[in-house]
Amino acid sequence: MGTAGFPPDVTRLVRPEIRALGGYAAHTSPDTLDKKALPRRIIKLDANENPYGCSPEVWRALAACRDWSVYPDARQTVLRSQLQSYTGAPADSIVAATGSGELLDDILCLFLGAGDEVINCIPTFDLFRLRTLIHGGSLVTLPRRDDFSVDIAAVKAAITPRTKMIILANPNNPTGNAIPQEDIIELADTGVPLLMDEAYYEFCGETVVPLVGRYRNLMVLRTFSKWAGLAGLRVGYGVFDQEIAASLMKIKLPYNVNLAALIAVEASLKDRAYLETKVKAIIEERERMFGLLRALPWLRPYPSRANYILCDVLAGSARTLHRRLEERGILVRYFNQTFLENSLRISAGRPEDTDAVIAALRELEGRIND
Ligand SMILES: *Cc1c(COP(=O)(O)O)cnc(C)c1O
Repeated sequence: MGTAGFPPDVTRLVRPEIRALGGYAAHTSPDTLDKKALPRRIIKLDANENPYGCSPEVWRALAACRDWSVYPDARQTVLRSQLQSYTGAPADSIVAATGSGELLDDILCLFLGAGDEVINCIPTFDLFRLRTLIHGGSLVTLPRRDDFSVDIAAVKAAITPRTKMIILANPNNPTGNAIPQEDIIELADTGVPLLMDEAYYEFCGETVVPLVGRYRNLMVLRTFSKWAGLAGLRVGYGVFDQEIAASLMKIKLPYNVNLAALIAVEASLKDRAYLETKVKAIIEERERMFGLLRALPWLRPYPSRANYILCDVLAGSARTLHRRLEERGILVRYFNQTFLENSLRISAGRPEDTDAVIAALRELEGRIND
């Protein structure tokens, strides 16, 4: 010793798997865009947020709260009982978190030891890959079929004694397709921990929550970010076997779901009828947008069960198209990665948002080759 420089270079102590990692390519926050270069009205269709916002009851409830100085309930007692009413699953099988992303971390923390394998079917939500690597897991990456369906036989064939988890988004993000229930059951029958991310459940209407009592290895993630318009408040939850739920309660940070989020969930669930009318409007708009996109011969939209549509760009560059749309104040998500070459994902918005996107696409037709 004694020869080390001072101050010491701590970066060489950082875990090598973290140093090697590229970050999560989150969408662009409007806060970081050059406002002067953009039109006044931004049409934000890049993160599958709710274009109608949250329930107005949430604004009222938050404005009325005077208890911000007090810690929230670490046991989430009231929240879990409200979620029992909403999901039909017992309160002690439910755990909530600061977005479903945090819960994904807690679940990986619970199961993964160094080198344990996680089966991930791409293209899918990139957070599954990233968080697995951050937790020291080993990724087993399987391609989906051309129509983005999951090859169940291939997943089963990929299971080894080191497989600790299969993760699937249902409906899948960004492709929008759903997995048939019998396929999910076939995977659950393997006994491997099976994590189903149902972030878009309310738009799709299909769930395996009622099966969790029957399959102790089945876990389901949900979120208030999309259907309830609470993305900015960060609240998600999961449904688990009761013993798994108890372990996750030990792992999670005590006050993870903050008081504002607790208040917002309560107000949202009370105003469920209103939120459901908005979900219905978004689904109708998704279908209308699909028809309009399909009428453009240079785009290939994929049918979707969620609140967005993935589109292959068949003529010209999706990257340029993404930029040209941004110049017009229209934000969409752009992909250029394995199995997702030259494509865009467009969130379903209000009718006027769809009209603006379609008008811009028609105007840009044949002009995006640079
Ligand atoms: C948007 C999304 C989520 C939501 O994450 P939160 O952390 O709850 O906001 C989870 N999974 C998928 C696949 C998503 O697209």
